[in-house]
Amino acid sequence: MIPPIANRFVAGDSPAEALEHVRRLNERDVKAIVNLLGEHYDERDPVAADAAEYRRLVADIAGSRLEACISVKPSQLGLDIGEDVFRSELTAIVNAAAEHGVFVWIDMEDHTTTDATLDAFETVAREQGGGVGICVQANLKRTRADVRHLADVPGKVRFVKGAYDPPADVAYADGARIDQEYRTLLEYAFEHYDGGIGVGSHDPAMLEYATALHERTGTAFEIQMLMGVREDAQYELADEYEVWQYVPYGERWKSYFYRRVMERRENLRFALRAVLTG
Ligand code: FAD
Repeated sequence: MIPPIANRFVAGDSPAEALEHVRRLNERDVKAIVNLLGEHYDERDPVAADAAEYRRLVADIAGSRLEACISVKPSQLGLDIGEDVFRSELTAIVNAAAEHGVFVWIDMEDHTTTDATLDAFETVAREQGGGVGICVQANLKRTRADVRHLADVPGKVRFVKGAYDPPADVAYADGARIDQEYRTLLEYAFEHYDGGIGVGSHDPAMLEYATALHERTGTAFEIQMLMGVREDAQYELADEYEVWQYVPYGERWKSYFYRRVMERRENLRFALRAVLTG
């Protein structure tokens, strides 16, 4: 059972609860990126269990005709155990999703995993010719080069500021510098990408920048935001743009919830208010 402190950000324990949340979003023209919570497994059993659940989930999404896709984490699919484990679980999920016509996003975790994640993405994206997407983090100094490389790889790219706390030699820490980098990356993507752009941000300034780029270049894009964050804005934006909500579910909510609280104090206030008001 998800405790009241986290249920603003997490759709429930089970796939059925997550898909019920997705159905309500779809009624308001918001699509969903469903994520089973879980990360940094050092044993094969939870990796196999989550991978199997994702394969069932893509069948359920297709069967229920919901506007939804999935997003997986490399360390949930065994990257901490070995790159081969991650690649084989990812490939099996992507193949199952392709059979059902469901799109698969790959989240980006801390900077030590970037190379392995990008390499695995590129392999499955080239095998499938699309149908998969990768996330890149504007706070990493390497990302400009990665984004240039990804222009020639099939699939979509989600741009985020970065939720982890990388060391200064590899990352920018200053918020204004990260915003500037985010804008530069978007500019490149809108000018060079044709596979699809995900703008994963709640920041009105970044969203405005993206919509202006869209008007200037005509390049299609989608807005992606998290469950529980600026939901009214999500519904409003959906009148004009394609909006996807990232919908996490499952019992392993603690690390995800911690990242939301660390990136914004207000998220803790919302959560505590939910506890106090029952
Ligand atoms: P911030 O810089 O946090 O905030 C800027 C402005 O946005 C604020 O001043 C405010 O105006 C507005 N805002 C932000 N939060 C709120 C709020 N709660 N209420 C009201 N206004 C708010 N990170 C990764 O490292 N890897 C991933 O794979 C990844 N996937 C993501 C997927 C999606 C769909 C999204 C939306 C984010 C993802 N992130 C991921 C997280 C991301 O890196 C950021 O940590 C997170 O989105 C916060 O940055 P921001 O751009 O939203 O704005």
